[in-house]
Amino acid sequence: MLQASIITIGDELLIGQVVDTNSAAISRVLGGIGVKVRSMISIADDQNSILESLKRESGLSDIVITTGGLGPTKDDITKKALAEFAGSDGWYYHEGQLAEIHRILGSRGLDVLQINTDQALVPKGCEVIVNHLGTAPVMVFRGKSSLYSLPGVPFEAVAALPDIAADIREHYSLSSIYHRNLMVYGIAESKLSNLIAPWEDNLPEDIHLAYLPSPLTGIRLRISVYGEDETSAEKRVSGLLPALYALLGDYLYSEADDTLEGKTGRILKANSLTLAAAESCTGGEIAHLITTVPGSSAYFLGSVTSYAVSVKEKVLGVPHETIAEYGVVSSEVAAAMAEGARRVLGADYAVATTGLAGPGGDESNKEGTVWIAVASERGTVTEKRVYSADRKRNIERFAASALDLLRRSLQKDGFSE
Ligand code: ATP
Ligand code: MG
Repeated sequence: MLQASIITIGDELLIGQVVDTNSAAISRVLGGIGVKVRSMISIADDQNSILESLKRESGLSDIVITTGGLGPTKDDITKKALAEFAGSDGWYYHEGQLAEIHRILGSRGLDVLQINTDQALVPKGCEVIVNHLGTAPVMVFRGKSSLYSLPGVPFEAVAALPDIAADIREHYSLSSIYHRNLMVYGIAESKLSNLIAPWEDNLPEDIHLAYLPSPLTGIRLRISVYGEDETSAEKRVSGLLPALYALLGDYLYSEADDTLEGKTGRILKANSLTLAAAESCTGGEIAHLITTVPGSSAYFLGSVTSYAVSVKEKVLGVPHETIAEYGVVSSEVAAAMAEGARRVLGADYAVATTGLAGPGGDESNKEGTVWIAVASERGTVTEKRVYSADRKRNIERFAASALDLLRRSLQKDGFSE
């Protein structure tokens, strides 16, 4: 398997001021095309460190990718190190990147200074992948190993990755790799692993299963086949899936890389249904997730952030007695909030949350409790969840579990996308 090293350059990474997100993004893309990342290292903005790392990693890997150290402010330490490493005998202005620099700065009404144009100055012998989002170009050096130098700004680095993946595919014969994703929600990783053990244990040697959990989307099950062409890998995996689906049951919410807000959105849209939300402890997180889906205006009417008891009573019409009798964090109040939001906003379905997200910052008590409810003309369902992460994480899990209850309710009511 082709091997790669990732080198991230920047003093800010070493002092912990900036978290290295570039390595993970690069590694995901490389993994997707069947390149194995053998190391990720972060080093200082220092010519010797850069040169030393380039020499070492290029001796060990087929591909070396660096990010950072290409900004206009410093003395171009990285570029000099790259030029020395590649043995370049001079510099040239890359016309395509120069034009981009003029366009980008011009569109922001900024003067183009010498330090800006110098960003298009690259070592002779390197190829350039033009950066359309920023002023620093991506440089490609082809030697015994291939070296790609990317800007440090994360969205610029990420934007260059499809081109880099295409370039790697063009220059190396990669053993093919096939991935299939399934999305699962509502079950802990350990329980899931027990549940599907009978299936997983019987997988052929060359089919791999990975569990990739996230608070907002649940667990992504990624099935990978290495070294087989796509059509036959897909056919073989498809043949294995019905047995897995039987074990997963209702926990499975999508047969592709997906989100709960995406899935519920598609169901609502396909059936011309509308949705409202009433959010206490999630403070708008549900509405936020729903509205990140393009086209959500077709079904999402709005959300009442009813944080205070008075808003629950006055806006949503939750009876004072219900709160007095059962407490704010209760099945009854969650149900009344959902029913109230559905009535006030005139929606087919409404989802509601009421709970305690847990204190922030303080490590002492991290428990978060939530009651979630979904109301429709078919009635109201409620469920309780307890999570023990920090406040922000708990809120994300509350919102996701509410969307999942909505998803299960819609499906139980016979709706599909
Ligand atoms: P120079 O290093 O030449 O002075 P710069 O630091 O402005 O220039 P880059 O090193 O390309 O330019 O970094 C640009 C921005 O991207 C900085 O804000 C930096 O903190 C951030 N950054 C750099 N490397 C990473 C990384 N690996 N992960 C996340 N952010 C990063
Ligand atoms: Mg830097």
